[in-house]
Amino acid sequence: MVWENVLAKFKELFGDEGEIGVYFAPGRVNMIGEHTDYNGGHVFPCALTIGTYGVARRREDKKLRFYSMNFEQLGVIESSVVGLKPEKEADWTNYPKGVMWAFGEKGMEVTNGMDLLLFGNIPNGSGLSSSASVEVLTGYILRDQYGFEVSNQELALIGQFSENKFNGVNCGIMDQFASVFGKAENLMRLDCRSLQYKYFPWHPKDYRLVLLNSQVKHELANSAYNQRRKSCENVAEALKRRFPGVKSLRDANYDMLDDVKNEVSEEDALRAKYVIGEKYRVMEVCVALEEDDYEEVGRKMFETHHGLSKEYEVSCPELDFLNDVAKSCGVTGSRIMGGGFGGCTINLVSNELYDNFVGTAKQAYKEKFGIEPICIDVVIGDGSRRLC
Ligand code: ADP
Ligand code: MG
Repeated sequence: MVWENVLAKFKELFGDEGEIGVYFAPGRVNMIGEHTDYNGGHVFPCALTIGTYGVARRREDKKLRFYSMNFEQLGVIESSVVGLKPEKEADWTNYPKGVMWAFGEKGMEVTNGMDLLLFGNIPNGSGLSSSASVEVLTGYILRDQYGFEVSNQELALIGQFSENKFNGVNCGIMDQFASVFGKAENLMRLDCRSLQYKYFPWHPKDYRLVLLNSQVKHELANSAYNQRRKSCENVAEALKRRFPGVKSLRDANYDMLDDVKNEVSEEDALRAKYVIGEKYRVMEVCVALEEDDYEEVGRKMFETHHGLSKEYEVSCPELDFLNDVAKSCGVTGSRIMGGGFGGCTINLVSNELYDNFVGTAKQAYKEKFGIEPICIDVVIGDGSRRLC
């Protein structure tokens, strides 16, 4: 068991006295619903069986002693719960400290220190939200060991708040939400506006979900993300002037977009077209899942990829190449997962094609780009919890 090794390391470093808890918070993938969160729409994630393990003990003094088995070279990083603020030298500990700070901002001041040891088994830089898992894990520990009364939804929101405000990353709510509320063998459709969610059973007995990490992250990602958000806002503003009920692109349809297309740039209209299409695709996937029609789910994934590549224009040669390989191998569905410009494709593959697809994709990609994509099998797991 992974967690037993993590617990042993904690005891070796920090001693075995006192009330020690072992916790886990998972990473996530998003099945469909990309770039919909900041447009008030739906996303469709699930939690994974991989994530971050944490062993923690509340201290009687103000001291923080943090150690990560993923950053052993940094050793034990010590600080204090007094005057929490982001510091470059604090490195990864800015994530758990951010959550402690966020509890304080929400009226729950953390007055006692903590010994905390982490181990994560999410492959680095694959966009599976290890940062959200660290935040959710920390929030869970604070609730469990410090007696704060916070709901699961607040745990997710506090995680997002800390990442936004303490770590300066403009993330939506999906990652933390999936890490808290994930359920094995289920996807969850989350309404990013109301935060209502619904589970959809995922039992594709003839198919597997697999990620291929392109191993690239193009510089463009951040600036393009902000530009896309701006495009969506521009179109939403034009829509609001004509349709008073509209709050964001989530409330629009193609006819409405057509009505305002002379008031926005051609480029902005094309971005909005993708977002509206993606809103329908999420709902179509829900229907397909209720009918156990995984071929239809796959078709929607290909459509999303096409939209992200040709309308939203957040793809890159590497991701389009992996998508083309998937198509030519006869894979059921494949698309960019995450913001774009690198990271992973998520692929729905029939069991009999799996070996051929993964082998072909690895070889062809390596020949073309000189690096081998990393293959990660998606196994859907439960949300954050105490293990011992
Ligand atoms: P991701 O897509 O995985 O969330 P981020 O860049 O947002 O990627 O977050 C990764 C950062 O989160 C790491 O650089 C580190 O600071 C922190 N982190 C994630 N997992 C761990 C861990 N197991 N131990 C310590 N820090 C971690
Ligand atoms: Mg992150």
